[in-house]
Amino acid sequence: MHFVDKIDLSSKKRYPDFRIKQLANHYFQHYSVNYEEWSDIPQEMGKKMQQDLLPEIVKIELQQFGDTDNLGKAQTVKNLLLLEDGNRIESVLMHYPDVYSEFSRVTLCLSTQVGCAMGCDFCATGKLGLKRNLTRAEIIEQVRLAFVDTQKQWGDQARLSNIVFMGMGEPTANLQNILDAVELITDDKVNGFGLSAKNITISTVGDVKGIKALAEDKHLFRLAISLHAATDDLRSKLMPMNKKYNVEQVLQAGYDYFQKKKRRVSIEYALIKDINDTGKQAQTLANKLNRQGQNWVHVNLIPLNEVPGSKWTASSKKQTEIFENILKEKGIPVTLRNSRGQDIDGACGQLANQKEKGKES
Ligand code: SAH
Ligand code: SF4
Repeated sequence: MHFVDKIDLSSKKRYPDFRIKQLANHYFQHYSVNYEEWSDIPQEMGKKMQQDLLPEIVKIELQQFGDTDNLGKAQTVKNLLLLEDGNRIESVLMHYPDVYSEFSRVTLCLSTQVGCAMGCDFCATGKLGLKRNLTRAEIIEQVRLAFVDTQKQWGDQARLSNIVFMGMGEPTANLQNILDAVELITDDKVNGFGLSAKNITISTVGDVKGIKALAEDKHLFRLAISLHAATDDLRSKLMPMNKKYNVEQVLQAGYDYFQKKKRRVSIEYALIKDINDTGKQAQTLANKLNRQGQNWVHVNLIPLNEVPGSKWTASSKKQTEIFENILKEKGIPVTLRNSRGQDIDGACGQLANQKEKGKES
């Protein structure tokens, strides 16, 4: 068992606490899982600790590079990750150079489950169904690998600073491991990477019970709600979860989250041609969001990643602009996101690996 899954489990201690602390320091501060790099632990013991406590539970099987800049350097890297039981997940690294600073930023999009049970019609992960939840060590390993890779890909000036829980899976369906992972990502003492919770975004299909639990947690991460439709009849067609918690209930839960943490809530809205991109949907969306004022919310419009074999296509540029302008005119803060990784078969939010897809067909 990986030591991250053992933290706090005090039984059957085989190593003194101070050795485990040293191991945690190598793991969280230096991203090292190689005993040969640990000068403060005798080599024989280090070797045993590595074997016992740091099994290779997440392996990078394949990397795809996309969004190359004019120097030919990829700005998006998609990882296909192999788990110990043969399942596969994906994670994505996105590099954002900053012309005003010597440092550049990297965002990691990580997975929380193998597949997903929620069955959203437009989503490639949804098509896989749920295989299983990821353990907290599998989630944390994605972060450690991302730190290592950030340096390898973009050098010492690049900083992994942001994490979005927007890969495969529904975070609220694996809640305890997600909250534990947030603690381990943000802790700046022994067991943690020391990132700011404010730079973490947890995205949910709109499970109201889950949103309430996220609101109860002490960390000030951002909540993103995948809305994708403003009316119940349409949202229920796109997202089965809407039959359990409707638009009204989801927005109320989002507003309560804002009230509790004073963190603006993101509303994710992927524009699907002739389905949810009409002026009427935009009006309704703006009106519903406006009921609580405008300072609690921010809409992210995302071009739909077209899933091969799916009936949905992305909205036209013109219709996207019309939609955006209606929201703006009604005072709703809105950003049009560019979709990263389109040249590598979709990036964040549209993950389902080719091998799994191959199995299906
Ligand atoms: N299950 C969570 C988080 C993973 S999905 C959720 O649904 O929020 C991450 C984001 O990608 C969500 O906003 C999801 O709605 C969006 N997404 C899924 N399929 C997409 C597609 N084909 N095009 C664009 N965005 C998509
Ligand atoms: Fe699951 Fe999110 Fe995809 Fe819906 S959009 S199927 S909740 S991963």
